[in-house]
Order: sequence, then C-alpha cells, then structure tokens
Amino acid sequence: MSSSWRARAGGGALVVAASACAASTQPRADAAAIARVASELGARTRGAACARSRDELVGLTLAEWRARPGSGAFDADWACVAIADDVARDSMAGCTPAPVDVLSRPVTFARRVQGELFYVGLDPREYAYDLVPDPAGIGVEVRVQLTGPLAEDRRRVAAMQAKMDRAAELWTAHSPGRAVHFRFRAETTDTASPHFEVRLYEGDGRTPFDVSWSEAWSWHLLAHEIGHMLGLDDEYGQFKKTWGHAIGEDAVWDRDVTDKVRWFGCNPSSLMCDSRGLGSAPQLYHYYVVLRRRACRVTPPDRDIVSP
Ligand SMILES: [Zn+2]
Repeated sequence: MSSSWRARAGGGALVVAASACAASTQPRADAAAIARVASELGARTRGAACARSRDELVGLTLAEWRARPGSGAFDADWACVAIADDVARDSMAGCTPAPVDVLSRPVTFARRVQGELFYVGLDPREYAYDLVPDPAGIGVEVRVQLTGPLAEDRRRVAAMQAKMDRAAELWTAHSPGRAVHFRFRAETTDTASPHFEVRLYEGDGRTPFDVSWSEAWSWHLLAHEIGHMLGLDDEYGQFKKTWGHAIGEDAVWDRDVTDKVRWFGCNPSSLMCDSRGLGSAPQLYHYYVVLRRRACRVTPPDRDIVSP
C-alpha cells in the first residue's frame, strides 16, 4: 500500500503512553473476552459467541419488520456482531478492559492513540486520534489537515469545519451520559500535529476516508468517515454492497430500508452501517471501542500484525 493514506505519525506535545493493557498485549482476538465485553455492553451473546449470526439476523429482522416496521427487536444481536468485528479486527484486539471502567472513568492526561484496523477484515488502515481531559469527563479530538487547491479557499475550509462541527455534535449527543465531548478540526497546516491529511476535492464520489474528502459530502457522511478515523469498521458486507451499487440497487435503498438490510447485512440504525440514512447514529459499543484504547498498549503502525 502507498503511504499516502497513512495517518500522520507526529507525536506533537502529547504523550503517547504505553500503559499495559488490562487483558492482554497480544493483537489477537480472544473470543471469550470479546463476548464478555459484548454482554456487558448489553449485546446478546451465547457462550463465547454471538447468539445469532449476521445471516440469521437479516432473515429475522426482515420477518420482524413485516409485522413491526423499524422494530429494534434484534438490536442487541446486531450489536454483538459489530462489537466482535470491531475488536477482532483491531491491532489492539487483545485489549478488552471492562466497559464500566472505560465508559465512566475520566481521562486524566492527554494521549495520542494510534493503531490499525483490518478494514472489512482484510485491509489494514490506520486510525489516530487524541483522548484528552475534559471537564465533562472525556474529550476526543481528531485533526484533519485538508490539502490541495480547494483547501486554500478559506470559505471552503470554513464550510467543511461547519459540517465537522455538526458531525462532532452527533458523536457527543449519543455518548453515554453525553459525557464524551468530540472535537473534529479542519486544519490547513501541519502546525497542530494533524492526525490525517486528506485532499479536498469537488464532486460527491466516495473515496477512502484517509485519502480525500469531497466538499459535497454531508455532515452525516463525515460523521461516518471520521468514525473510521476513530478506528471503527464498516458494519455492512462490503462485497454485497459494492455489487448492489454496481447493479443500481442503491436507488431502492434510499426509499426502502428493508431492502437496505437485505443488501447491507447490518443494523441501519448504526452510523457505521448506514452512512446515508440520516437516522443512523453512533452506538454505545462504538464509544467502548474508541475509549478503551487508553488502556491498551500502543501498537506501532508499521508493526507486522497477524490478521485475526
Ligand atoms: Zn465506511
């Protein structure tokens, strides 16, 4: 892979701490530990696994929605599948501290979190952000340096910042007790030690989140893409969704959420499942995955990691 999509590795003034993980330092998934975490987050498990598979959940959800459209009867099952993927695909997969500690304990010193996520289980991409002390409990900050000719236009940068502010509000609003405050900053220089560099471009095509951003993207889509910068995976089935786009099925998705479930294979109420549906939002387990890394040993970005 080229280095262009890699996050910036600058440390700035922040401490990159290397505290020991409560569970394990090995970047390997421990199914029992993940199931314990999932269960403590309210997800539905059975032994060391999720109670239901993704394929089962598609069928069950579609059947449920014929009687009760939009019902969240299987949300706890969908959450389990998403948590298992998010943690198992993380270079910090071996780190599974108890949710009660992760979600309620304030951050006492700033640290930069960096690692890799095996995006859709295959493609390692870097995540990077800061966890910082905040009067309300925990602050999360992502600084994105916008580059290219469009980024020289202050009005365009201000428009992106306004959308990033709304995206941050969404992340803050759904955090446990609203006690996690998100700040997403559009930068135009590297003086603020940005976590990512992305090229700003015209048009509304979808490009990898860490390569370029379209100025036409909605604030809600930015909230999803920044979710990747926070080290969260897409929850939909990549190949089937891509195939659906190729044959024009996406025109149906926009007006029929049932069809979306059939093709995406994930819970459309989650921001990391459905980036276009305005009703989708961050879920409790997203905050766990992001915030828990303060208790994890730092994994160097270029370390050779065995995919789980
Ligand atoms: Zn995505």
